[in-house]
Amino acid sequence: MADSPDPAPNADKDKEKAKEARAHFIEQIIRADLESGKYGGRVHTRFPPEPNGYLHIGHAKSICLNFGLAEKFGGLCNLRFDDTNPVKEEQEYVEAIRDDVRWLGFDWGDREFYASDYFEQLYQWAEKLIRQGDAYVCDLSAEEIREYRGTLTEPGRESPYRNRSVEENLDLFRRMRAGEFPDGSRTLRAKIDMASPNLNLRDPVMYRILHAEHHRTGDQWCIYPTYDWAHGQSDSIEGITHSICTLEFENHRPLYDWFLDRLGVHHPQQIEFARLNLTYTVMSKRRLLELVQEGHVRGWDDPRMPTICALRRRGYTPESIRAFAERIGVAKFNSTIDIQVLEQCLREDLNRRAPRAMGVLDPLKIVLTNYPEDRVEELEAINNPEDPSMGKRLVPFSRELWIERSDFMEDPPRKFFRLAPGREVRLRYAYIIRCDEVVHDPKTGVVTELRCSYDPQTRSGMPQQRKVKGTIHWVSCAHALSAEVRLYDHLFRVPDPGAERDWREDLNPQSEEVRTNCFVEPSLRGADVGARYQFERLGYFCVDPDSTADHPVFNRSVTLRDTWAKIQKKETRK
Ligand code: ATP
Ligand code: MG
Repeated sequence: MADSPDPAPNADKDKEKAKEARAHFIEQIIRADLESGKYGGRVHTRFPPEPNGYLHIGHAKSICLNFGLAEKFGGLCNLRFDDTNPVKEEQEYVEAIRDDVRWLGFDWGDREFYASDYFEQLYQWAEKLIRQGDAYVCDLSAEEIREYRGTLTEPGRESPYRNRSVEENLDLFRRMRAGEFPDGSRTLRAKIDMASPNLNLRDPVMYRILHAEHHRTGDQWCIYPTYDWAHGQSDSIEGITHSICTLEFENHRPLYDWFLDRLGVHHPQQIEFARLNLTYTVMSKRRLLELVQEGHVRGWDDPRMPTICALRRRGYTPESIRAFAERIGVAKFNSTIDIQVLEQCLREDLNRRAPRAMGVLDPLKIVLTNYPEDRVEELEAINNPEDPSMGKRLVPFSRELWIERSDFMEDPPRKFFRLAPGREVRLRYAYIIRCDEVVHDPKTGVVTELRCSYDPQTRSGMPQQRKVKGTIHWVSCAHALSAEVRLYDHLFRVPDPGAERDWREDLNPQSEEVRTNCFVEPSLRGADVGARYQFERLGYFCVDPDSTADHPVFNRSVTLRDTWAKIQKKETRK
């Protein structure tokens, strides 16, 4: 102690240490590898989607993780399409995946790869394994292979074709490639150990015969590598250092290690992490496809879907999704994240960035009886109180206004601080008004109009005057732009859809509410598709592609309700 009079170096070290301790386990592995020089100081990751569906928020976690680690350690991240299954894959998905990764803010440079680019190399390596006595052609059917495999408690049985000679195997494998045999009649299998406690090591299939067109290789191939055979070798070919995947591949790792060791090629380190699960939604590609095909939603980008393109249409920002990935972190154990955490990340981002505007979703007309008929005032409104640099705008004010029906009650409880007969309220950026008279539809009794008076001495910005408890939003009738607004709730009614019955029965029939009779302030005319606003008191809204210049359509991205504090409280209580 005595010989370190200056505490600063230690403080710096402590900070560095604290930072390292906070680093998640994958970062720690990479740091250790960098220190030991395991891969010559390189960090090279990849994001490997199968182009058989649209990417969802779970994929976003993996994208942020892989691209983020490469960025952090000055490395590279590839985009690789794992397109080994010709039947389910399509070019449409490839393009959508590219768009989504780019939109999230990541760049793979010229490193866009396809497992199908490696089909020839994989084939040559398969012959190598045959020559080494490590693979054989098997004539068992898919069902027989399953039967022979055994179970977790029983060892498997060896295939009667397991001990074919190298020559016979090579000949048969070449004829498989040449197209001599029908689909499903033969496979190439790794010759490992039918008694292994790990089922993945019980002579797994490497190739199957499939006379099918591939979206990239056409009819060049009629044998296709399995995912297990293609995946690790694709990583190796690309010089990947850290092959990050989800936990379900943990017990495939010994198989991938076995392949790479037998081939004697570059050996990436596979690291598994827990996949993201979210409450009130489903994430499996199969279910997402069913939602689309069975018409439960309007398409892959229906704003209720957990797909990236749907989140984008809903109004999510790439920044909010990246912040979400950061906030939930990376863990070794599966868990489910409350969907409110995702919503809160969007709220926090839009609160800083979205310009404010006024819109009325359920309009009720008020007439200011003491306001001159032909008068229009341009009132100053603040675009974003969080960010003065966003400036101000003018909002027209006139004798007839739309207000929110729910901001008026004819017979209110005492604590209702909005409009009621004889009561006063402030109109945002405008005046204090008093409700003098309520007009009803003579047949239905429904309130059709309020007759109010305004107090000219109370214009906002004037030296301060008397105060009222409530402030409500409004739009001038003569200037209002008519709009459609789509309000969303969770796609499912329960946190864990399908846990107790068929997942379709858990669909929320009220997940979408379309309001066609809304009014928004005129500054929103011609708003760009994708533009995001906070409608004061109502939430954040995003301009939908269905909009026209004179009739915008808005999706509510998220409400203003701040539930994050509640979640945090719950979490600290656990
Ligand atoms: P399937 O196996 O049904 O095709 P998948 O969700 O595994 O679906 P892939 O295209 O193989 O889809 O996934 C690409 C990458 O995204 C993989 O590395 C996978 O581990 C990762 N990934 C997929 N779903 C999640 C999730 N929910 N959370 C985190 N990562 C995920
Ligand atoms: Mg997969």
